[in-house]
Amino acid sequence: MEPFMPQLVYFEPRALEYPLGRELKEKFEKLNLEIRETTSHNQIRDLPGDNENQKYRNAKSTLVVGIRKTLKFDTSKPSAEYAIPLATGCMGHCHYCYLQTTLGSKPYIRTYVNLDDIFDQALKYMDERKPEITRFEAACTSDIVGLDHLTHSLKKTIEFIGQSEFGRLRFVTKFHHVDHLLNANHNGKTRFRFSVNSRYVIKNFEPGTSSFEDRLSAARKVAKAKYPLGFIVAPIYLHEDWKEGYRELFERLSGELAGLEIPDLTFELIQHRFTKPAKNVIAKRYPKTKLEMDEEKRKYKWGRYGIGKYVYPTEEANELETTIRQYINEYFPNAVIEYFT
Ligand code: SF4
Repeated sequence: MEPFMPQLVYFEPRALEYPLGRELKEKFEKLNLEIRETTSHNQIRDLPGDNENQKYRNAKSTLVVGIRKTLKFDTSKPSAEYAIPLATGCMGHCHYCYLQTTLGSKPYIRTYVNLDDIFDQALKYMDERKPEITRFEAACTSDIVGLDHLTHSLKKTIEFIGQSEFGRLRFVTKFHHVDHLLNANHNGKTRFRFSVNSRYVIKNFEPGTSSFEDRLSAARKVAKAKYPLGFIVAPIYLHEDWKEGYRELFERLSGELAGLEIPDLTFELIQHRFTKPAKNVIAKRYPKTKLEMDEEKRKYKWGRYGIGKYVYPTEEANELETTIRQYINEYFPNAVIEYFT
């Protein structure tokens, strides 16, 4: 698949006070893209489209270049202390994506050009916690790799963390456009993770993202560039013949990675879950989806802010976990399984 190119670009006027803002403007002008102005990256009201669905689709190919004002980073992930806000939104069309609800009516893609402010804030957090290590997650609100060939903000962040003493960076992607990141000075402080899944899940629920083969060849390049490498298997989904499907996944993974030395490989395992609001949004945006979201077949798990999630019942979740752990132990006996949730 081709690297992402927006159809429409908005700029906040203040973004042009920053070198990256000006560079992007020049780039998009040369490409003859339609460019508009917006007072705030939080308020794009005139997206093209006659109805909600068209607007949603157009939003996914709209890029907004703005300034990040709120620099209080989120801490909502099990795998990092802070989210580092480089971008919001994603060009992918994964049916199950949680951004559909967290971004609500603003599914367009935002990139923030005031990187130095963001780095200053990150430094403060590292200072507060030292000598403890502080981990930053760069893919909480977007798939940052899918966008980075245009902005190189992730690359700069990798190099910024590479020079820090107490910082670590991690992110996950379903895109294979990694070439510009291979020569970044990462100093082993960035964990590069790829999201992988069974053939069934990728085929049915992940349109608009790179193929499994492309993700895997990107993972090979990343491992050769000596980045710490990881895989997130998410969402682990109970489909027909799921046991064979997931076995095949690990078989292909180990085949593709054969011959590479990967000293510290990690896996993170996340079972499929949904919320009631997410179910409603998904039904509207992807009405033909095969994604099973039957509350009766799930276990309700109370969540923060009063919105609970539907996960698999304990017995099924245990079977999923045991099976996947077995496959990992069989195909990657030296890998670390960080968590199953
Ligand atoms: S690639 Fe990730 S962030 Fe993008 S739509 Fe898919 S799940 Fe969401």
